[in-house]
Amino acid sequence: RRRVYAGLRDAPAMTRDGVRVALTANAGLLVELMRLEESGAEGIGLFRTEFQFMVSDTLPGLKAQIDLYAAALDAAGDRPVVFRTLDLGSDKVVPYTRALREPNPALGWRGLRMGLDRPGLTRYQLRALVRAASGRALNVLFPMITEPREFEQARAMLDIELRHAERHGHTPPASVRVGFMLETPALAFAPGPCLDLADFVSVGANDLMQYFFAADRQNPRVAGRYDPVSAPALGLLRTVREACDRAGKPVNVCGELAGRPLEACVLAALGYRALSMAAGSIGPVKRALGGLDAARLSSWLDEAIARQRPDLRKALLAAGENAGL
Ligand code: PEP
Ligand code: MG
Repeated sequence: RRRVYAGLRDAPAMTRDGVRVALTANAGLLVELMRLEESGAEGIGLFRTEFQFMVSDTLPGLKAQIDLYAAALDAAGDRPVVFRTLDLGSDKVVPYTRALREPNPALGWRGLRMGLDRPGLTRYQLRALVRAASGRALNVLFPMITEPREFEQARAMLDIELRHAERHGHTPPASVRVGFMLETPALAFAPGPCLDLADFVSVGANDLMQYFFAADRQNPRVAGRYDPVSAPALGLLRTVREACDRAGKPVNVCGELAGRPLEACVLAALGYRALSMAAGSIGPVKRALGGLDAARLSSWLDEAIARQRPDLRKALLAAGENAGL
């Protein structure tokens, strides 16, 4: 099986009816970068910068941050790397800050909410990113946005750091692109103002589904109760993709959903043309997409969503070839 995937490695992902889907890898630690080559990833679609903070005993300094980000850019070579700024809080805790006790951490002080309240921390990280990407392409992604104002403030901080680098005589990045994670339902239904400001969008399906279904992704009692391959969830994901297309902004889906073969086929049929996943999922997803008739699955899904079909996943698997699978 490994050999089958290795044979696919250098071929781009393409559905049976000729739809091209870009597959990138999620990463966060140096060790994961070593798998980039063998996975056939077209870049790093999501670099989770908080991992470095979670495995350190103390707050990583500027140099440690610059070194890691530069290593990621080196590993990717000509391929793009999307750096997500710190997404701490909720399930991601660091050992060296006072334990935050919140009754509902997933609904609490996390991601950019913390990043805006602790601008020193965010500015420091943005400084490291700008320095690491000196002379190269810099893609910055801000997590856990609910309101356009939050994205606006985050972008402004990046602008300050770009000017700071210039003033201090550092070669600026060759290009700068800024995106936001779409992972709250509120933003999914009113993404317009953020889309106007953004260069790209990444749908954080793990959190988007958690908040959409009001089911803690960490709680095994409820995490399995809802299914993203269902009429409400797919309707939402289609709406989001349409909004991004209308705004002319490239969008990908990261989150575990994108790395599962059936789900990846469904996302392609809903119109997503870029998916980011664990490196090990790229081979299996590429193979599944190769057997997909995206147009046929797209019309099957449109009808199922319109009819609010219960047990959609089961019906889809039963339809099989008739649904384009
Ligand atoms: C997500 O929410 O889907 C996502 C990719 O981010 P994380 O899993 O790190 O919250
Ligand atoms: Mg998330």
